[in-house]
Amino acid sequence: AAFEGLSNRLQNVFGKLKGKGKVSENDVKEAMREVRLALLEADVNFKVVKDFINKVKEKAIGQEVMKSFTPGMVIIDIVNKELTSLMGETHSKLNKSNKPPTVIMMAGLQGAGKTTTTGKLAKYLQKQNHKPLLIAADIYRPAAIKQLQILGEQIDTPVFSLGDKANPVEIAKQGLQQAKENHNDYVIIDTAGRLHIDEDLMNELKDIKETVKPDEVLLVVDSMTGQDAVNVAESFNQQLELTGVVLTKLDGDTRGGAALSVKAVTGKPIKFAAMGEKIDALEPFYPDRMASRILGMGDMLSLIEKAQTNIDEEKAKEMERKMRKAEFTFEDFLEQMEQVRNMGPLDQIMDMMPGMGKMKNMKNLNVDEKQLGRVEAIVRSMTTEEKRKPEILNASRRKRIALGSGTSVKDVNRLLKQFEDMKKMMKQFSTMMGGQGKKGKKP
Ligand code: GDP
Repeated sequence: AAFEGLSNRLQNVFGKLKGKGKVSENDVKEAMREVRLALLEADVNFKVVKDFINKVKEKAIGQEVMKSFTPGMVIIDIVNKELTSLMGETHSKLNKSNKPPTVIMMAGLQGAGKTTTTGKLAKYLQKQNHKPLLIAADIYRPAAIKQLQILGEQIDTPVFSLGDKANPVEIAKQGLQQAKENHNDYVIIDTAGRLHIDEDLMNELKDIKETVKPDEVLLVVDSMTGQDAVNVAESFNQQLELTGVVLTKLDGDTRGGAALSVKAVTGKPIKFAAMGEKIDALEPFYPDRMASRILGMGDMLSLIEKAQTNIDEEKAKEMERKMRKAEFTFEDFLEQMEQVRNMGPLDQIMDMMPGMGKMKNMKNLNVDEKQLGRVEAIVRSMTTEEKRKPEILNASRRKRIALGSGTSVKDVNRLLKQFEDMKKMMKQFSTMMGGQGKKGKKP
């Protein structure tokens, strides 16, 4: 899967930090050493890596982070933000001409996926109710024209061609003319690629560009080629002045070096990412989403935000202390449950936590919402004394509680037995929240 290698390595590094209640300057340095190696191994440009690490360190080695209740999380958050900014901060939309048609010129080396991406882009525009015209200006690669025509048919989009004997500049010019006549609001020009960058190719592309004055010059690069893709992008950009980059084959790119360096090196945004051979496997590129994906966070970030707004730090610290000392009672349990509840439906919270999905399925924990509702009812039927000292719960008390909560004695018994497990689970929660779990025994 995309970025799997990098993702796994980074998750290992941060897994170590996440559970820590205190993070020292050395912890951060050590983690950053590992992040640096992971990025280099992912084929990220070394200058980019150096800059990146420096920025993260600068922000992470600060009083506020160290003192924070969840230092590990804060550091992951910093890394996430820097990764996002590295890839361009925000999503960069396609330029649009206020005098249609908007002209998009596609460029790239042979095999990068240019023709395929041209079809995908047409499909993408079509879905937004646009009427694109494709122009087949790659007269050199055998079958490129045919390939574009087949793609066009597949998505019911016209393809303009003058065969492979005409001049590409002429093809582009006449195609544009036809688009105007037929009221196509977008044209996408599939230009020729080469195996390597050469002067003839660049001159031809410059001529086309000069003639059709495109609103977008998109370079298609194969992300699996890592830094080579970045070098190609830099050369093209110097000669042709790109407006953006499309990364292809992200589905097969386990490293992620191209995605992470291309914006920093060329200054040009990644506008789209292609993740498969199918015609709809093209997505607008969102740096923030890509960053969380790389960090394997799922919705971890929104969870962090929720935790930060909903968990009372003082209370949580007190709770932690009690749990460590095994003073944790049903009263605390209720309170803890409320805090967790404040964050949203339990199911969702569990899903957002890496590793928790598995736990959710563990039968003996039974942490589904309904079950918890029952548990809550049982606990609420206890007297204050019972909540504090569950060991006094004899048979008659259990019977009374079962009646009061609309459950059975069996349910009550089960809960009491599960209470120890629940304690462990809550401890796990607080560990995942970056609480002081490390001081207690790992659940
Ligand atoms: P061009 O020479 O740049 O026009 O390259 P093509 O569009 O012909 O694509 C070259 C090969 O890469 C084809 O086999 C495509 O199916 C494949 N390809 C293109 N984009 C992707 C992608 O995002 N993922 C995968 N897995 N394959 C892709």
